[in-house]
This record gives sequence, structure tokens and C-alpha cells, in this order.
Amino acid sequence: MFEKVLVANRGEIAVRVMVACEELGIETVAVYSDADRDAGHVEYADEAYNIGPAPASESYLDQAEIVDVAERAGADAIHPGYGFLAENAEFACRIESTDGITWVGPPSDAMETLGEKTKARTVMQESGIPVVPGTTEPVDDAEEVRELGDEFGYPIAIKAEGGGGGRGMKIVRSEAEVEDALESAQREGEAYFGNDSVYVEKYLEAPKHIEVQVIADQHGNVRHLGERDCSLQRRHQKVIEEAPSSALDAELRTEIGEAARQGVREAGYTNAGTVEFLLEDGEFYFMEVNTRIQVEHTVSEEVTGIDIVRWQFRVAAGEELGFAQDDVKINEHAIEYRINAENPAADFAPTPGQLTTYRPPASIGVRLDHAVAQGDEIGGDYDSMIGKLIVSGDDREHCLERSKRALEHFAVEGVHTTIPFHRLMLADEIFVAGEHTTKYLDRELDDDALEAAVDRWGPAEATGGDGTQSETAEVTVEVNGRRFGVVIEDGVPQTTAGNADGGTASGGGPGADATPEVATADAVTAEMQGTILSVAVEPGDEVADDDVVCVLEAMKMENDVVAASGGTVESVPITEGDSVDMGDTLVTLE
Ligand code: ADP
Repeated sequence: MFEKVLVANRGEIAVRVMVACEELGIETVAVYSDADRDAGHVEYADEAYNIGPAPASESYLDQAEIVDVAERAGADAIHPGYGFLAENAEFACRIESTDGITWVGPPSDAMETLGEKTKARTVMQESGIPVVPGTTEPVDDAEEVRELGDEFGYPIAIKAEGGGGGRGMKIVRSEAEVEDALESAQREGEAYFGNDSVYVEKYLEAPKHIEVQVIADQHGNVRHLGERDCSLQRRHQKVIEEAPSSALDAELRTEIGEAARQGVREAGYTNAGTVEFLLEDGEFYFMEVNTRIQVEHTVSEEVTGIDIVRWQFRVAAGEELGFAQDDVKINEHAIEYRINAENPAADFAPTPGQLTTYRPPASIGVRLDHAVAQGDEIGGDYDSMIGKLIVSGDDREHCLERSKRALEHFAVEGVHTTIPFHRLMLADEIFVAGEHTTKYLDRELDDDALEAAVDRWGPAEATGGDGTQSETAEVTVEVNGRRFGVVIEDGVPQTTAGNADGGTASGGGPGADATPEVATADAVTAEMQGTILSVAVEPGDEVADDDVVCVLEAMKMENDVVAASGGTVESVPITEGDSVDMGDTLVTLE
């Protein structure tokens, strides 16, 4: 077994990996950026190294620096977590060719084959697994896309080869949308995954997202740990995941599990991975393979009792999987709730700020994967996840009952979170019945219901997202010996500093269809720290209100920045690739 592992990640997943190391008697090395000096993963590790400034490109994505630190620290393995370099075959290859350091993940050539979606589709198709109808070659020409639209029928999806989490995916409903969608998918692919190559798929209207967890050793053994249902999505991003799926019967479960095993075996895959499928009308179609540990691996661990991260280390060290396929039993039901610092009532805009209160639930059936504590600052440099709440029960109904209790006892103040949204879902008939498809939230989620949920279950005081801040105080009084908590409100919501002109910030989903960020009349300023992906105007241009002036990437999302009112562009002090801080001027108007 390894003696010292460098974890090339941050946040909850870095801690999750270190937990497995600790139990295996392995020492841990953390890396961190300037923004993460006080982060939970740094504190958890046995030793830690600063690898650069806040922007991920200068720290968590700096391959040479990370390898250098691993060598200086004397680490004999690197675990990448998810995100950042986890699916970067070039990085995996670099580690494979570094003496004395093992890559805790699949071989780089399997990552390359399966990581590029068109190659993965070819491999699966060749091993007889049904794939979503579409191309197995990249396309780069709008005319070609239009021809494919005619062939498959609209809607179609243009997807970045390296994409994931809905990023780099554009849905095209008619011929007229092809040009813009193609450009935007290519731009997002380049910005997020360093690969502007895209391909085309038929876009299924109301599928279930079913994915199979696999793990393979270096001795030819491949096991699957059952499926996860990740159908509850907002703009193609998973928000609640569970295992098992109520959409599968025993026969389909075996069939889809065997297809996943077959597919990864064919690709010479080892270590943990996920094979994703879409399920519609009882038919499943391969979508893609994620060649890494996933955010939602936890629910599979809960229902099977198998520690996937521990096995990642064991198979990377050359051990044989110690259980047969028949030994894998699904004993419980588990649901994961992503607890993000976002305001559900403001289009899920990220709300960086301080966790003035942070008291997660405990007791039977509750697991918390997080790397924060009360008093911590949730910064705006990385994604908005605070942690994950995983609840297990005997069956789905029991799990839902327990989830109600757990979420009710999850106290967070200081920032908005997705907790009110989750509580709303627990009262949602379609979700509770397990009938939701991936399109359910985008079609049916009601803004008024979200607002009411945030009012009812949201923080008493929070900054960001809705541009307001209200002060409250709580006192305890006893009346005839009975205890009451009384909340005294300061009343009028105040406008926060960064938003003094009354604009509303909102991030929301990725891409051009994200709800726009409204800026001020004469100066368009950044609502949050981020990187300029593209600039749409130059001095002298006439803009109307709501025109996009630039695209800002913040907290891993693409946000269109629009002018609050029209005018002539006077100056554009930014260019593509610039890092900007909250409040920086992006464009001035006359
Ligand atoms: P990931 O599953 O890694 O997040 P994607 O970005 O490929 O990767 O897909 C995200 C989500 O987008 C899927 O879970 C699914 O809901 C939706 N999706 C992707 N491709 C299609 C398609 N061809 N038809 C319908 N929905 C799709």
C-alpha cells in the first residue's frame, strides 16, 4: 500500500479522499491556493503546500507545480478527486511516467478513449451497447449540424467532447439556432475543458438519468455497484441523487449493470468509474463514461456498504477486488442532497459569504461529506458547494421521512443555501412518487414556490444573491415557565455594498440561456470575482438595455453580463482571459 498520498483537489472531496487514506494508514498531503489558506482540506491533511493564486488555472490546474510538490513531499501516489485535473488524460500520463508516483485512477489511455465522448460512443457501439443516436465523429461546421438536425429531427444537442455537468452542451430546437449554439458549445468546451471539439446527439425529451458505478482491478475483474438515479436536475446539473432507482425492475437493473461492466472491460479500464445512461420508455442508451470518482458516489457506498475510495487505493496498489459480483447487494435506499451556497429564490445565484451559523444534522442514517465549519468563509473562487448531506433508510419512503428530519435540523445562517429547495422537493408529489425526469424541474419548478420556501426555511440573515441583507436578533423568553424563542427583526432589508445601484446579481445555469446579470446605467460592473470568457462590445458600439456586453465565468458558471440600460460604449477596460474582482468596471457607457 502507498505511504503518502497527495490529494490534488480541495473541499469536501479532498477530505473524503483523506478519510480513506487515514483508515488505510496512509499519510496525506494537501495542496491549496491563496484563497484556500484556511480551508478545511488543508487543516485535515498531515502536511500542506501552497501552489499558487486563487484562479484554478494558476493553482489547482497547474500540473507541473502539483507534480513538483508531490516529489518534494515524497508522496508515492496522487489522487485527483473530481473536477480540476481528474479527467485530464495528459496529467494522468504525466504521473504514470513519473518515477515513484502512482496515479490513483484509470490508465491514461483508457481515460483518453472514454473521456472523449465520440470515442467512448464508438467503443460502446462496437460492444453492442445502445447509444443515444448521434455522431461518433466531431463536427465543426454549421451546415453539417443542420443536416444532422434534419436527419434526427429537432431538438438536437451539440455537446463538447470534454463536457460534463451540462457545461458545453447546447440544445438546438430549430435550424435557426444552429450557428449560435455551435459557437457557444465550442467556446464553453474550450473554456472549461480546454477542448473546443463538439459532436451532435438526438436530444431526448423526457428521459431518466441512470448511471452505473463500476470498479475494476488490474487482474481483469470488473464489478458494478448498482445504479444511481440522478434524474432530478436543474439545467442539466444534478441536485439530488439516489440509489437504487425506482425506474428499474430487477431485469433491467441486471441488463444495464452488465452493459456497464462490458463497456469498461472493453476499454481496458481499471479503478472506479461511472457509466451514464439515459432511460426513456423502458429503453436505455449509453451517454458517457466519467473516468473518476463522482460527487454522488456516496449513495452507492451507503446502499452497498462498499467504500469506493478505499477500493480506488487498493486497486491502484495492485490488489485484487475482494468481492464477486454476486456479493454486491443493495440493502438500503440512500439520497444525496447537494448543499450549495446558492439562493434558490434568485435563480440559484451563488451567494458567497460567511457561515455565521453552521450546524448540520446528526444521528441515525445521516452522513455529512463536507470540509467547512461554522465561521468559515464560502469564497467566490470555486464552485458553490458547501457539502453533501446523504441520508439512508430501509426503503425510499423511510429515506424520505428521515430526510425531512435531517434537513429540518440543518441550521445554516449567513449565506443562502439549497436547503429550502430540498425541503420543497420533499413535499413535491412527483419527486416523492419518483416520477420525475431530467426535464421536470426546468419545466415545472415554480418561482413563487421557491420564494415561499426560502422565506420559510431560508436563513434569517444572509448576504448576496437577492441583493438584500436584513438584521435579526433572537431572544429567549419564559412565559409561565414555558420557553419561547422570539425573533426580533430589524425590519427593512438593506442593499448590500456591491450592489448599490439596485441591480440584481444572478448566475444560474451555464451558457447563454443563463438569467442575465443586470448592471448599472453608466458603468457595467462585475457582480462577482471571475474570469472574462468573451467580450461582446467595443468602444463606439450602441447597446440596448439587456444586451450582453461580456461573458463572465464565476463559480464555474458562465454568466452573461448585460447592460441595465442602453447607450454608447465609451470604454472597455477588460479583455478575454482577464481576472476581475467584484465591483470592477467591465464596460462604461455614455
Ligand atoms: P454529466 O452527466 O457528466 O453531467 P452531460 O453534460 O453530458 O454530462 O449531461 C448532463 C445532463 O444533460 C444529463 O444528465 C442529461 O440530463 C442531459 N443530457 C445529456 N445529453 C442528453 C441528450 N442527448 N438528450 C437528453 N438529455 C441529455
